Amino acid sequence: MIERAEILHWLHEDDPERLAGLWRRADDMRRRVMGDEVQLRGLIEVSNHCVRRCAYCGIRAGSPVTRYRMSPLEIFECALQATALGYGTVVLQAGEDPGLDAETVSETIRAIRKRTPLAITLSLGERDDKELAAWRQDGADRYLLRFETSNRALYDRIHPARGLETSDRIALLGRLRALGYETGGGVMVGLPGQTLDDLADDVEMFARLDLDMIGVGPYLPHPATPLAAEARPDWDSELMTYRMVALARLACPGANIPGTTALATVNRTDGRELALARGANVLMPNLTPTRYREHYEIYPDKACLRETATVCDGCLRGRLQAIGRTVGEGRGDARREARNEP
Ligand code: SAH
Repeated sequence: MIERAEILHWLHEDDPERLAGLWRRADDMRRRVMGDEVQLRGLIEVSNHCVRRCAYCGIRAGSPVTRYRMSPLEIFECALQATALGYGTVVLQAGEDPGLDAETVSETIRAIRKRTPLAITLSLGERDDKELAAWRQDGADRYLLRFETSNRALYDRIHPARGLETSDRIALLGRLRALGYETGGGVMVGLPGQTLDDLADDVEMFARLDLDMIGVGPYLPHPATPLAAEARPDWDSELMTYRMVALARLACPGANIPGTTALATVNRTDGRELALARGANVLMPNLTPTRYREHYEIYPDKACLRETATVCDGCLRGRLQAIGRTVGEGRGDARREARNEP
């Protein structure tokens, strides 16, 4: 476990030589607990319809993007491609889209479960407990739902309530765990009004929720959203994201932690490689058909927007080889037994 004082110390540390000590500790922990294998998860952005109005997100309701929703067959074909490329997991991600109805999702999960060896991760936002339970029964293995920030006031400000329904993602993560999902959470780094104390709370929350997967990325303003007009903290959100990746590894040694696309977007040269050298062990190549990809515009100028899945795959494998890491085989589940590592 890592103490709060130490978390805060590292969040404030600016000296590159001393920070190298944090990178080394996180990298050692990653190697010891997870090994040198990098897991590849095929990301399928299945729909960009959304009923919510998250203040930062480019596909929020009312945003002027072209909307699309993939059919179960199109999703299944992407899953076959994941298998062909040797991936162990697909991630089905979407806006919060009631049009992506429970039965369609069930059907899709059952088809993938029946005909491929893939682990199935869902990232469909806050859905009804009944739906979440049914999808688990159908064979979904994992659920990704970032809690975005553990500062409740900031959370409420950027996640307007929908009618009478308020949102509590932290409570929902507990219910997902109880349903038997491997659970993933995470935060954005550099949100307007976010403080280093908030980030320390986030790291403590990763440990308290006992997360199996932790996604951390820099907040990237989208000009068509209300949050874009607000001033951001004066620290460097890319560097702060690496600190958070490293601290997430120390707080949750056995968790799967990706080098996120948002990091690749702020640093196209080696954002993902730096994350992999500072605690991360997962990459998420995009399998969304290229004709839909540009419309899943949660932030502008996303990395790897136009490359086909095959090109992405070749590029990532080359990058991994260059840094001496191998590609993981199989599903790449979290290491629950590493929970109580010192
Ligand atoms: N509807 C799903 C998936 C949302 S997209 C859900 O709500 O969980 C996945 C993640 O992208 C979000 O959880 C958020 O952390 C991140 N994201 C959204 N907009 C972003 C932005 N402008 N900059 C950086 N990350 C963003």
